[in-house]
Amino acid sequence: MRRYPGKIIKEAMGNLNSKAATNLYPAAPSIVTKGYRGKLNYNSKACTGCKLCVRDCPAKAIEIVNVGADGEKIFECHLDLGHCIFCGQCADVCPKKCLKVTNEFELATTDKSTLNINLKEV
Ligand code: SF4
Ligand code: SF4
Repeated sequence: MRRYPGKIIKEAMGNLNSKAATNLYPAAPSIVTKGYRGKLNYNSKACTGCKLCVRDCPAKAIEIVNVGADGEKIFECHLDLGHCIFCGQCADVCPKKCLKVTNEFELATTDKSTLNINLKEV
């Protein structure tokens, strides 16, 4: 569609008093939309170690490790944030609902070594 300078100027002038479509993040907090899939949350107390989450992860980003001594079952969830694609499949498949996606999205880092994390319940 062809646009004429007069039309564009009129549109620009009309927008001078309208509210900006963007926000001032990071100066102002950013509000995520409903259904956003951010960093995972893990409830180790409910975890049975079945590893369905590991099996279904398309990015091979998640590991469940038994750190209990003498046959005790104490599980940790290790996540590689550099590989995770935030699909939420692991949370969907977990029969105990111990993995959940959160709204946390501020995960950028300049230090790659911090991307391998031991997930905790928050
Ligand atoms: S699917 Fe759920 S219960 Fe099974 S190992 Fe993963 S987090 Fe634990
Ligand atoms: S959100 Fe997706 S990519 Fe990330 S650990 Fe879960 S299944 Fe794997």
